[in-house]
Formats: sequence, C-alpha cells, structure tokens
Amino acid sequence: VMSVRPLVAGNWKMNGSRSALKELSAMAEGYDAGLKAKVDLMICPPAPLVFLAAAAAIGTRIAIGGQDCHTEASGAFTGEVSAEMLADSGAGAVIVGHSERRQYFKESDALVAAKAAAAIRAGLAAIVCVGETREEREAGKALSVVGRQVARSVPEDATPETIIVAYEPVWAIGTGLTPTAADVAEVHALIRKKLVSRHGKQAAGIRILYGGSVKPANAKELMAVENVDGALVGGASLKAADFLAIAAAY
Ligand code: PEP
Repeated sequence: VMSVRPLVAGNWKMNGSRSALKELSAMAEGYDAGLKAKVDLMICPPAPLVFLAAAAAIGTRIAIGGQDCHTEASGAFTGEVSAEMLADSGAGAVIVGHSERRQYFKESDALVAAKAAAAIRAGLAAIVCVGETREEREAGKALSVVGRQVARSVPEDATPETIIVAYEPVWAIGTGLTPTAADVAEVHALIRKKLVSRHGKQAAGIRILYGGSVKPANAKELMAVENVDGALVGGASLKAADFLAIAAAY
C-alpha cells in the first residue's frame, strides 16, 4: 500500500470575517513540528478573505484554498470568481462540486468536471466532492451514485498533484451523523478502484478525504480507515482548537 501524506482541509463555507483570520493565526501557531511531520493543513475561506488569508499564511505551511470557481478564466460573468483569480490571490487549491453547490445551485457532474479542469489550468489542485444523499444510501445506491460521480466529475488527466477527492455523504454534512468505519472503508475502496482503473497506478497517490461531521472526538476512528487520506472539515474548522485537534488524529 502506497503511503500518502494526509491532508486536513477546512471549509469555512459562507462564514468568517477579517476578524476570523485570528483563528488562522492560532492554527499556524499550533501547527508545530510534530504535526508538520505528519499532516498537511489547508483552510478554504470565503472568496473575499482568500487574499488576506493567503498573506497571513505565508511561511506557515498552511495552504489556502477557494470554495468554488467558474470554468472560464475571465469575462462577462458578473459575480463569479475564476480559478486564475484564486491563484493570483495566493490560493493553492479550490473545492469543486461541494454538495451545497450540487444541491442549491444545481451543479452537474459535467460542470464540476469543467471546474476541476479550470482549477488545473490555473495551477490549482481541485478538491472534487462526491457523496450520496440519505435517500440514495437507504435505497442501497451509495456505491453506484459515488462511483458515477467520481467517473464523471474527475477530469481525465487527474494526478496526485492536481486532484484530491472528498467523499462527503450529504446526510453527514453538518448533522453530527457519520457513516460507520466499515461504510467509509467500502466507499473509499470503491473510489480508489475507480481512480486507479481510469487514471492508472499513479492514482494510488491521489488523496481521498472523508468529510461530514468530522470532530475531534471521531477523527481518530475515521482517519484510521484504509484509503482515508485526510479530512474535509466544515463546522469544526472555524475554531483553531478543534481543527488542530482533528489534525492531531494523525
Ligand atoms: C463540509 O461542508 O464539507 C463539511 C464536511 O461540513 P461539516 O464538517 O460541518 O459536516
């Protein structure tokens, strides 16, 4: 089994003001040599904070990412932010296809794949999110849904440097509910198999994050699951103490 350096990424969603950057500073302070040896950290603040967060993160080894991007580099798309703009602001990555985007903004797998391709074009890594709804899981369709999303949302030229996959069951996001370790293992194994069959052996190095109600209390169990190469953390990434405690699960 190829060992992959884990990543704990925080998604602040539509939360945080300039004053929240003090949490980023506290994360940097707590990101000590012991943690740096084991795990990468990333924070994805809302777009207006990306530039300031990236400036604050210089020299800390905490990466900054965006939460979404447009497919085009520039143009008449009022209100949108391009991957190139995120890169120019100091981001190293961008989340695409988060379930809130898929649900509330009706993003399709094809659009998510185009956004991931835009990220790669701009020199960013894309964190491609997939995950089944509660209804889909209860109908026994979790594996087929996630398999299809991975096949259709991850661009053809995916490599460990350009693509990170996040498995986020929709019913686990912000609910306090989490799948069992066995269920996480089953889905992550399927994602790995799909990635390797489509993108070749090097896809063993593509990080597959788990996301959905990751907290300090459950991080150790979830992060110990085979093919779980880190976490995508929503609520618990807003406070440095919680985020660092999750990172310390490694
Ligand atoms: C998320 O939004 O990506 C997420 C996992 O949220 P939470 O950790 O709050 O469930």
